[in-house]
Amino acid sequence: MKLISDPNQTSLVDRSLDAVWHPCTQMKHHESMPLIAITKGKGAWLFDDQGNALLDCISSWWTNLFGHSNPRINQAISNQLEKIEHVMLAGFTHPPVVELSEKLSALTHGNLGHVFYASDGASAVEIALKMSHHFWRLNNQPQKKKFVCLENGYHGETLGALAVTDVAIFREAYGSLLQDVYTAPSPDSRKAQPGESPDDVARKAAKTLESLLEVEHQHIAAIIIEPLVQCAGRMAMYSPEYLRLVRSLCDHYNIHLIADEIAVGCGRSGKFFACEHAGIWPDFLTLSKGISGGYLPLSLSMTTDKIYQAFYGDQAQQGFLHSHSYTGNPLACAAALACLEIFVTEAVLTNNVERSHDLAKAFSWAKEDVRIEHWRQQGMILAFDIKLEALKSPATFSREMFSASLKEGILIRPIGHTIYVMPPYILSAEETIQMGAAVQRALNRALV
Ligand SMILES: *Cc1c(COP(=O)(O)O)cnc(C)c1O
Repeated sequence: MKLISDPNQTSLVDRSLDAVWHPCTQMKHHESMPLIAITKGKGAWLFDDQGNALLDCISSWWTNLFGHSNPRINQAISNQLEKIEHVMLAGFTHPPVVELSEKLSALTHGNLGHVFYASDGASAVEIALKMSHHFWRLNNQPQKKKFVCLENGYHGETLGALAVTDVAIFREAYGSLLQDVYTAPSPDSRKAQPGESPDDVARKAAKTLESLLEVEHQHIAAIIIEPLVQCAGRMAMYSPEYLRLVRSLCDHYNIHLIADEIAVGCGRSGKFFACEHAGIWPDFLTLSKGISGGYLPLSLSMTTDKIYQAFYGDQAQQGFLHSHSYTGNPLACAAALACLEIFVTEAVLTNNVERSHDLAKAFSWAKEDVRIEHWRQQGMILAFDIKLEALKSPATFSREMFSASLKEGILIRPIGHTIYVMPPYILSAEETIQMGAAVQRALNRALV
């Protein structure tokens, strides 16, 4: 047993390394890679305990939309705190959850009019998967219990969500715990052969999916996809044509479409929902991350009247008997409402068009750089790959690039040899240019 360290003599970082088991981390890597103690945030900037400033180019794991310590969101949470901090949502309701559900439903033009809440993204995915299968049970098709997911897709790391995730590093150790799924090809535009367009890649991927559905549709409840960008899968981007094709295959073969918009929703793709680029609506749409502006854990799964009605009846077991303790937390909903209000009053989607042009400009150097390939952008996500032959050590590049970026005063976290930025929507044009130049300098450091 270890004694508790004396807070007056030990640094916050050392105490953290002793007592906190950090996520998604080989803790031993912190022997050479710094752990950073953040004590303050303002706008797009984070400040460590030494007073160093870091530009948060990845929105604190894709959650933060309007900056740290945003006055309007702070105020909304603080106002709600004066009223009620939390009450269970079974048997009770409260103004923020009602208002948020109505607003979200309106954003889908009523297509997805029923909102079920949870806290983390993975839980929203679990909810959509369970609801989908339960719907088919209620429709006398209990054999529809398998799921289709995409190669290179990511939907979270609880066992149900991990089963439909195809990122080897997250799955490897737990494969034997996961249910069997069908994996269809990713429509990743980088697969295009010379002379092929992203639409061609999308059509090919959909064709292979169709052959699977043709044979197995009677056993399949749903297909789950990340619309337009497979974010954790190294920011693989693809044509909206794929979404249209999948929608029509789902209609034809009687399979639900689950659109996981946890990362690409809330304006990240350039529209509020990424599905809007294709003019389609899914049967389930999941949101988390940006929905609370990066303030509080809030996730949700939206669905149609048709699915909601199937659960509506006299028997308890016909209902969706799923819950999490903090379902629909009022403070988190108040933060989300403040964000939706900012979208309207500050014309965020319109202004982001210009911001995404600034982003492209700031990284125009990378289009010319011979070490780089597959420069790509979708709204407020910009990514490119470092050619393997340019890397000293592919296994350690992402950590070296992370460390190099800290020396340049920016926070980025490459995935493998893919560098991406996903900044909050509040960067000024100057900060955007600053970010692009700092990434270039960090890359030069990491590749020498
Ligand atoms: C982050 C993410 C999740 C999981 O969300 P958590 O809050 O980390 O559980 C699920 N799907 C996608 C697309 C994500 O990017």
